[in-house]
Amino acid sequence: MATSSSAIRTLDKSGNEITTVGFTRFGFDSEVPIDVLRSLYLRAHYVTTASSSDTKEEHLEEQALHAQFSKGHVAYQSKSIYHPETQSISYTTLSRFPPVKLLAPSKRKRVLVTGGAGFVGSHLVDRLMVLGHEVTVLDNFFTGSKTTVSHWVGHPNFELVRHDVVEPFMIECDQIYHLACPASPPHYQFNAVKTIKTSFMGTLNMLGLAKRTKARFLISSTSEVYGDPEVHPQPEDYWGHVNPIGPRACYDEGKRVAETLAYGFHRQDGVDIRVARIFNTYGPRMNPFDGRVVSNFIVQALRGEDMTVYGDGTQTRSFQYIHDLVDGLIALMNSDETRPVNIGNGDEFTIGEFAELVRDIVENVQREDGEEPRRVNIVYKPMPTDDPQKRRPDTTRAKQVLDWEPRWTVRMGLEEMVRYYKAKMAEGGI
Ligand code: NAD
Ligand code: UDP
Repeated sequence: MATSSSAIRTLDKSGNEITTVGFTRFGFDSEVPIDVLRSLYLRAHYVTTASSSDTKEEHLEEQALHAQFSKGHVAYQSKSIYHPETQSISYTTLSRFPPVKLLAPSKRKRVLVTGGAGFVGSHLVDRLMVLGHEVTVLDNFFTGSKTTVSHWVGHPNFELVRHDVVEPFMIECDQIYHLACPASPPHYQFNAVKTIKTSFMGTLNMLGLAKRTKARFLISSTSEVYGDPEVHPQPEDYWGHVNPIGPRACYDEGKRVAETLAYGFHRQDGVDIRVARIFNTYGPRMNPFDGRVVSNFIVQALRGEDMTVYGDGTQTRSFQYIHDLVDGLIALMNSDETRPVNIGNGDEFTIGEFAELVRDIVENVQREDGEEPRRVNIVYKPMPTDDPQKRRPDTTRAKQVLDWEPRWTVRMGLEEMVRYYKAKMAEGGI
């Protein structure tokens, strides 16, 4: 049985234990304890069967399992009761919201996060909420889900609005994080025209809002603006190598024109813009079925299925953990840097190596949990069209102007993500 004494210990790239994420940069404090965040995603909500909560002993065992994930923050997790005999479930909500900082009104920002119910957005929302800011999430739930932020619904500092950014939206705010856009290749290719519309019209509408409110505007651009790069690693002044008519173009060109729009509003209208070029990022709350490599590999390994490497597996990617990205986004938003800034982790893997690493980590976590791992096979599938051969960020600019660099090792991040997906599986969510 897992106990609170076996709470998760995470070491950063220098071997120091990570107990908090964030920092103070440019007068903005983004530091919060990692345990509080974990309590919101590792097992923010869990399902127990009516019979298992009957005996005190089993109840205590369950509490201990939760303590492992969240060091005593169990009160901020909701528990639903499953009744097997009637195949029904009684949902509960939180009895208590996680504590948020009390900020002086002059320090408290009104922040709009478009796409805030998605993977990246929901972690940014958690951070901004715990820090004591007022957060409005705008999302059409195309790839995101209400459940990623449901633990804040009803909180006085929080508002969730179902809205499609291709339509204008009016609100008063100080900062806009514009993240709304599907990010995984199967999702953005599902309706290519809609992806371009979201990138262009959504960004146009949100920049119009920033112009009217004089809010600072940050767009989540992507390493995809570099396409299949001829320069390696990719610095911000590389213009890219993008196929304008291929299956990835709706996303790549969409983000390129979104950046162009942002600089148009900046030069013509003085809109205060920030451009984050995000490289492959992974972490809990990534949709397990979004087709991206990290989610595919972990889910396949946990289910004991073949892991699917596309092509010969020699193409490379570098993977960044979600908390490093949120640190970088907040630092960029509050800095004076209006040029594009790469935010990513330079640890580069071939996809073949990465499959082996994920398999190894899944087996270790299974062993730690007292399970007998079953070695899965790595199989090779055809390479998708226009799949970039290599990708690694040059993050010199982020280091110089934001004093930011990634802290999480890929292994530490993957371990946490495996635990998250394991918990989801135990709840029947995968
Ligand atoms: P995600 O798919 O989990 O989240 C995107 C969110 O935007 C979802 O909640 C979705 O419902 C919402 N959305 C999509 N279209 C919308 C519309 N028209 N109106 C309102 N909401 C809409 O993806 P993510 O990984 O969280 O990515 C967030 C942002 O970061 C995206 O802009 C993406 O391009 C960028 N990015 C992510 C990565 C990564 O590795 N995760 C890499 C580069 C860039
Ligand atoms: N990939 C893979 N197996 C999978 C999913 C993806 O080998 O099950 C490969 C994919 O072809 C690409 C890399 O992993 O080379 C990263 O893919 P992902 O979709 O995560 O992101 P992107 O291509 O946008 O970087």
